Order: sequence, then structure tokens, then C-alpha cells
Amino acid sequence: MDNGSVPTHNDEPLSESPRTTLHRKKERGSHDRRIVNTILDEGLLCHVGFSDAGTTVVVPTAYARVGDSLYLHGAVANHALGVLASGIEACVTVTLLDGLVLARSAFHHSMNYRSVMLFGSGVRVEEDGEKRTAVMAILDHMASGRSADARPPTPTELRATLVVRMPIHDGSAKVREGGPLDDPKDIALPIWAGHIPFSVEAGSAVADSDLAEGIDVPEYVARYPARSQRASAPSN
Ligand SMILES: Cc1cc2nc3c(=O)[nH]c(=O)nc-3n(C[C@H](O)[C@H](O)[C@H](O)COP(=O)(O)OP(=O)(O)OC[C@H]3O[C@@H](n4cnc5c(N)ncnc54)[C@H](O)[C@@H]3O)c2cc1C
Repeated sequence: MDNGSVPTHNDEPLSESPRTTLHRKKERGSHDRRIVNTILDEGLLCHVGFSDAGTTVVVPTAYARVGDSLYLHGAVANHALGVLASGIEACVTVTLLDGLVLARSAFHHSMNYRSVMLFGSGVRVEEDGEKRTAVMAILDHMASGRSADARPPTPTELRATLVVRMPIHDGSAKVREGGPLDDPKDIALPIWAGHIPFSVEAGSAVADSDLAEGIDVPEYVARYPARSQRASAPSN
């Protein structure tokens, strides 16, 4: 792969295998790649679960999607990432919390969310061009446009960076939205019920204390967009 190139992109649904077939509330699930990609592109962090020497670990980390791949990165000394790079089976989740659902009954309290679960094994990225693509994609995933401003990694920094590629192939999305689903017999109870919408919003940026003089705040920092494409998300 050349520097700056990206893995292939397709519109095929994610595969529906025994492990990605929803059983609970299956009407909330989807294998539509556009829905999966929308959630992955809006999220900022993922959780990677896998087995490490008999212990199950779940590691929160940054990521970026490029085409049909998810990239994770860290120091070459990062133990968990190293285990993941060995090709073991892993499960990656991304969760967007959209609201708290307060039902009349304790039993029906819930959350509104959009989430993705991906299964597969990671591949250690060896080629410098793909490593650069991944690192820059992770910057742009944090703040769109950042990769054009940041000093690029030196060959030494690139060697010190471990990049793992996960396939976006075997997985699913699940979406819950709306109000509580109380039992009909509880609807008339004198108890407030409804939902509290949640979203992730950036605060005002704080310049580094030793920032050189005369540097304008980039537009993508000054007007950091709300990370929600909720309006275009699917309903179920
Ligand atoms: C913020 C949040 C809060 C939640 N709170 C609760 C809770 O308190 N109690 C509760 O029971 N459930 C909760 N859920 C739903 C939970 O994630 C599971 O979907 C649910 O528990 C059913 O689990 P299961 O193992 O029976 O799923 P199954 O339907 O048996 O899962 C089979 C397959 O369906 C897919 N799948 C299942 N869940 C998800 C998902 N969330 N996202 C993407 N794909 C999925 C996966 O491919 C999985 O392997 C919550 C989800 C989110 C995102």
C-alpha cells in the first residue's frame, strides 16, 4: 500500500454469522454497513476485548475507520496492543450514549444508544505508508483537518508506533431510541416517565501555556463540531 492510500471500501452489509445474529430485541439490530460506519465515524473511543494468557481484558482506546478497516495505534511497548497484533480473536465495541430512559417501572428503565460490535483478528501493520495513513486518520478522526497541521511522524517515531488493523466485516449495529416501554397497566401511574437526551459536546479550547506567539486557533478547533449525526441516524 502506498503512502496515503486507503483500504478498500464496499457497501456490502456486514456478514451475519451465528455470533453476530441478534437474539435480544433483534428489531434494533442491523448489519447495514452505512449504519455501522456512521456510528464508527461519530464515536471517539472504542473498547477492545480479548483473551490474554487466560485473562479477559477490555482496553479503551482511540481509533479511526479507513474504508473497511479500523485502525488502532499505540507504543510498540504497549502490551495489550502487542497481544492484539499477534492475530488473536478480538471484539471491538463503539458506543454512543444518546439518552437515559426513565420508565414508570424500575424494570423498564433503559438507555438510548447506537452501538457497534465487531469481531475479528487484528493484523500488525508493517508497511510505512499504511502506518502513516492510519496515524493521520486517527488525528483527523479526533479533529477533522488536524493531520494537515500536525508535524508528521519521523521515521523513528513511526518505528516506535504499533498500528493494528481490524477488519470491519463480521459485526453488527444496535440502536435504541425513543421513550420508555412501560407495561400498559403502568401507564396511568402518577410517576413521571420519559427520556433525557444525551450528546457529546466540546468545551472551549484551551491554548497550551507555552504556545508560540502569533498562532491563530484553527477553524476546526474554534468551531469544533458537535459529534452527533443523530438526525441522519436510522430509526428502528
Ligand atoms: C449504552 C448501552 C446500555 C445498555 N444497557 C443494557 C442493560 O442494562 N441491560 C441489558 O440487558 N442490555 C443492555 N444493553 C444492550 C446490550 O448491549 C445487549 O444488546 C443486550 O444485553 C443483549 O445481550 P445478548 O448477549 O442477549 O445479545 P444477543 O442478541 O444474544 O447478541 C448476539 C449478537 O448480537 C449483536 N449485538 C448484541 N448487542 C449488541 C449491541 N449492543 N450493539 C451491537 N451489536 C450487538 C452482536 O453481534 C452479538 O454477538 C445496553 C446497550 C448499550 C449500548
